[in-house]
Amino acid sequence: MNHPERNLAFFALLISALLASGCVPQTHGWASVYKPSQHPKIRVAMPADAPSISQEFLFTTHEAKHIGIDVIGKVGDPVIAVAGGLVTGSYSEPMYGDRVVIDHGPDANGKRAISIYKHLDDRLVSEGTIVARGQQIGTLGTTGLLGGGIPHLHFELFHGAAGQGAVSADPHLFWADGVGRVTCFDPSGVYDFAVFKMTYPVRCRGYRQSQEPEPATGEIATQQADAEIAAVQL
Ligand SMILES: [Zn+2]
Repeated sequence: MNHPERNLAFFALLISALLASGCVPQTHGWASVYKPSQHPKIRVAMPADAPSISQEFLFTTHEAKHIGIDVIGKVGDPVIAVAGGLVTGSYSEPMYGDRVVIDHGPDANGKRAISIYKHLDDRLVSEGTIVARGQQIGTLGTTGLLGGGIPHLHFELFHGAAGQGAVSADPHLFWADGVGRVTCFDPSGVYDFAVFKMTYPVRCRGYRQSQEPEPATGEIATQQADAEIAAVQL
């Protein structure tokens, strides 16, 4: 059996197991419920083509936090930038495995946004790389002790005043289509926001490879990315 077939077989087995256990009812178009202790809970609208969310954001003072969302997929699925920005971290550590950190800079309100992608199987960008929205930055994986052996992307968003410490925020507050409205990245879409808005960190079903944005390398691509992130002040 070659690798793609083996991966596919493993994925099918995994999904069967998850379906049987009742953890994740479907691979796409579904989002887990918030834990009762999370406030506020956001009403989440999942596009039918978006890979499912197996765990929602949890930030409380009295139980183990989960300061991000988990998006399921199979090892090797493309992980993409939720908005244009500057890669400020690309490294591996034991707990969350391989991660990429993108600073999206302060927006028109002076609020800085930072997105973090964990448990990656592979990292395709390094510190100092300027990336465009939708550009592939790595692949989904299981790296790190907290990866749990189940292929998923642990995605975090930090948001705050420029020059001050950004704090952990529920990613559902920032979708391009509105609060709670998970927004698939569309290569032909127009994303022109004065304030930070983001698109889904993995590709949705039906994504056309031919429309993949050019990697943000070189002068022209850098200008494209600059138009979105404005000046990144570090
Ligand atoms: Zn997680």
